Amino acid sequence: MILRSIILLGKPGSGKGTLAKDLLKHDTELVHMSTGDIFRANMEKRTPLGQEIIDVMNSGELVNDELTIAIVEDFILQNKHKLICYDGFPRNRVQLDWLLTFMLDLDLNFPALVELQADNETVIQRILNRGKDSNRHEDQSVELIQKRLSIYDQLVADIKEVYTEFAPELHYIIDGNQTPHKVLVETIKSLSNK
Ligand code: AMP
Repeated sequence: MILRSIILLGKPGSGKGTLAKDLLKHDTELVHMSTGDIFRANMEKRTPLGQEIIDVMNSGELVNDELTIAIVEDFILQNKHKLICYDGFPRNRVQLDWLLTFMLDLDLNFPALVELQADNETVIQRILNRGKDSNRHEDQSVELIQKRLSIYDQLVADIKEVYTEFAPELHYIIDGNQTPHKVLVETIKSLSNK
């Protein structure tokens, strides 16, 4: 049984989405919060938010923090009594600091950090394959993928700094080059009763 919310940290294509879905099947207390999925759904439905973010999304840059935090805040408040699996959030130091403070204000447990480590070659290949089957514009070009990977490097440094200082025992590193099943088993083993 998993006792706290989880931040999934990993490069685009490292398998965060798959792991989140598998964890949800394993533990029905968990809900999945993917900011990327929420943004894409808004673009597809052409909502005002969708229209506002379309250019940023297509360029591989990050949506601004204010808009992103507003949708996450709404999600947390609607799922206050559940454990949340954060996929694609936080993406920078501002978002991370906001999340930890907000959880503290709501008296929620410090989230566990599950870091899925995968090689660049593996993730680039996975993303390009995914791009062939989907209409995810940001998955179609190696240049855009590389830009997203370099944004990710900065994020990892920021998040690790915070966990090293405040909760090193809640930071788990999982080998994301393995099969989805092995990734799930290892993650559950690490998180059980924590
Ligand atoms: P993802 O599916 O997580 O790779 O996200 C796809 C795109 O959505 C990113 O390239 C960003 O443009 C946007 N996005 C997703 N999550 C965030 C976030 N936490 N902060 C800012 N932008 C985000």
